[in-house]
Amino acid sequence: MESNQFEVIIIGGSYAGLAAAMALGRSLRKVLVIDAGKPCNRQTPHSHNFLTQDGSTPAEISRIGREQVAKYDTVTFLDGFAIEGKKINSGFEIRTEKGEVFHSKKLIFATGVKDILPAIPGLAECWGISVIHCPYCHGYEVRNQRTGILANGEFAFEFGKMITNWTKDLTLFTNGESTLTKEQTALLKSKNVKIIETEIEKIQHQEGRIQSINLIDGSSVSLNALYAKPDFEQNSSIIASLGCELKSNGYLEVDQLQKTTVAGVFACGDNTNMFRSVAFAVSSGTMAGAVCNKELIDEEF
Ligand SMILES: Cc1cc2nc3c(=O)[nH]c(=O)nc-3n(C[C@H](O)[C@H](O)[C@H](O)COP(=O)(O)OP(=O)(O)OC[C@H]3O[C@@H](n4cnc5c(N)ncnc54)[C@H](O)[C@@H]3O)c2cc1C
Repeated sequence: MESNQFEVIIIGGSYAGLAAAMALGRSLRKVLVIDAGKPCNRQTPHSHNFLTQDGSTPAEISRIGREQVAKYDTVTFLDGFAIEGKKINSGFEIRTEKGEVFHSKKLIFATGVKDILPAIPGLAECWGISVIHCPYCHGYEVRNQRTGILANGEFAFEFGKMITNWTKDLTLFTNGESTLTKEQTALLKSKNVKIIETEIEKIQHQEGRIQSINLIDGSSVSLNALYAKPDFEQNSSIIASLGCELKSNGYLEVDQLQKTTVAGVFACGDNTNMFRSVAFAVSSGTMAGAVCNKELIDEEF
């Protein structure tokens, strides 16, 4: 096999990509993992809710994962960014931003997603530290504290309902006119959830730890934590250029075996599912790796 020829190329070498690489390395497959080293949780000081690593730093979890996968000598790591991909007769061709070209029979996208944070001054600095996305990941650490939710409409109602499980001191910031129904507003208020429609001017914080939400009318609300669910986009444009279909909610269309709509192309982790967690990334990566290997076995047998 030529040095730039692999059986599988995995784009993205964070939790999902490493899990896929582990399954494939243990299946004796010649694998290339291309990783740009920018996981979405890199700003969060501690990662939670992943068995055996509860409270570890995100980087430590990846470090251990990469070290364990690197023991399988058929797996090669390349630190870099894949910028182009196309279908060729023998499979796929991937080009990196440095101009390196690699070929493989199968492709796995473990590329995650890019969060598009609301343009509120201070929010980006607090992201993952005191502006949090998920109560299962960070809710316990801020339980019973002064908490806000930045959301509006149906999502705000459902999220508000959910977060009352972790704290009773809850304020919903709709950041503009509320689109909650009258019934939703009444129900939230009956549970002592405060609703503030005044737009946010900025988040006052110290090294990412929220102190208050400052509103454009000059008032402010003291807080310890704020839940937010930003919009997102796919990290890799290769997904679209290969013709892999996306669902209407922006996630990659995959079946239960992590196969995309393009033959020979798999996807796993955050790019496929709103259930955003390290555990899900590892689980779906393991599935993608195993099913990809089975496909190769079936084709070779
Ligand atoms: C702020 C924050 C805090 C979180 N906290 C927790 C927590 O406490 N517990 C928990 O379970 N989950 C947490 N999560 C969710 C968790 O981080 C994600 O579910 C998980 O990182 C998804 O893993 P992934 O491998 O799919 O994607 P990512 O971890 O995002 O990794 C994608 C990788 O692909 C690389 N990549 C992308 N495109 C290319 C390309 N074209 N070429 C090469 N490389 C590429 C990126 O650089 C990156 O290294 C958190 C998420 C956020 C945003």
